[in-house]
Amino acid sequence: MVQESYDDITGNSLFDNLNIRGTKRWRSSPPEVCPYCDSQKTIHGIEIIAAYDGALYWECDKCDEKLLRFTKQTTIKHLQKTCELFIDLEGLDFIWEQEPN
Ligand SMILES: [Zn+2]
Repeated sequence: MVQESYDDITGNSLFDNLNIRGTKRWRSSPPEVCPYCDSQKTIHGIEIIAAYDGALYWECDKCDEKLLRFTKQTTIKHLQKTCELFIDLEGLDFIWEQEPN
């Protein structure tokens, strides 16, 4: 069994997990028609807490395909912030595990 450590979580690996297929960006608002399944008005923004204040990328309700709002590089940069949060939380966990004085 492969144990994943927090050190392995990077903006890059988080981005890869999203499986965003396309490279086209919709900067201010998502497309009216999904480019993957042709459904109308099924795409909404996905917010990642601690990554970006607002939608970080778009996702289709119908086919679950994700679309870029920012460039890949910028999306990774925002995702990287959540990794730093994971590390902070791990640190807190460690503090809580200590015996009280
Ligand atoms: Zn779709």
